[in-house]
Amino acid sequence: MTAVRNPEQRHPADPALRPERLEDFLGQDDHRANLRVYLDGARDRSDPLDHALLSGPPGLGKTSLARIIARELGSSITVTSGPALVRPGDLAAILSALQPRDVLFIDEIHRLPVTVEETLYPAMEDYRIDVVVGRGPSAQTLRLDLAPFTLVAATTRAGALSHPLRERFGILLRFRYYPPEALAEIVARGAARLELAVDPDAAVALGRAARGTPRLALRLLRRVRDFAAAPPAVTTADVSLTLERLAIDADGLDDLDRRYLWTLTARHGGGPAGLETLAAAIGEPADTLQDTVEPYLIQQGFIERTAQGRIANGMAWDRFPDLASMRPTDQPTLSGLEPGD
Ligand code: ADP
Repeated sequence: MTAVRNPEQRHPADPALRPERLEDFLGQDDHRANLRVYLDGARDRSDPLDHALLSGPPGLGKTSLARIIARELGSSITVTSGPALVRPGDLAAILSALQPRDVLFIDEIHRLPVTVEETLYPAMEDYRIDVVVGRGPSAQTLRLDLAPFTLVAATTRAGALSHPLRERFGILLRFRYYPPEALAEIVARGAARLELAVDPDAAVALGRAARGTPRLALRLLRRVRDFAAAPPAVTTADVSLTLERLAIDADGLDDLDRRYLWTLTARHGGGPAGLETLAAAIGEPADTLQDTVEPYLIQQGFIERTAQGRIANGMAWDRFPDLASMRPTDQPTLSGLEPGD
């Protein structure tokens, strides 16, 4: 049977701070409220919850929410990922071990091989799979009935999912970056669990520097604990020092974000530049740029993705006053903007 990959192993420092109940899952309020209705409905009807697709950038709480769903249903969760399921038999082994109303969590579902994806269709729709036994002319197809289960899948690339797969999910939750206030609350809750006394202003400063991402907010909190002058107290001065040491600016942009913006402006005149070209110049995999760096820069208005390539907006140029002479004339400067522009 396929080794079931536990995503918590990627973030050994985080598990203790995972929210456990839906009420502890802060932010994404509309999704949380709707999910509460779906969970209560499924429980009242003694049905499995509809299959759910959670999409959005890394670190926004998709895995945490999958675990919460299982817990709220009073069910077990089996955790695997798209790349871990190499052959249809890998999936069949996991599916056939599920109990009624169990949750199967598949992370990175956009990386599922096509043959495995096709095995998943009848499992999702009719709780059955067709297993081919043997080879050549003596091969036989056996139908295997499965326990009614819920698939919770996560992806950083909802757009990369095939239409037939996406159509089979009844619940679609697109995660958004968290506003600084929600992150400050997540920091405050994490601080309580780490037995730190974090000033409210310090929690807000961390929330602002965390790129809209709970995982980063909690990671920063742990680093502040290391740098704090008088732990368990954490002040805004401790936060400022930590951000400086980690080279994170007040907008939450880190070294890689800045290298990206510099490459697009200084080396490519603000674009359009292709993803692969940028990746080669920066020296980072295109996947990292696409999944981790670009979504936040787009959301903040620094860059745009167009059919021709990536383009730097005025905000990106504003970060590099030295490049003023290279700036295209149709890019307004901040000082040139009228109020309300
Ligand atoms: P993803 O699966 O989207 O990459 P995770 O579920 O692994 O993200 O979340 C990363 C970390 O951030 C977890 O350790 C969890 O503690 C924290 N976290 C994420 N979302 C929330 C939230 N809404 N409320 C509180 N903590 C959260």
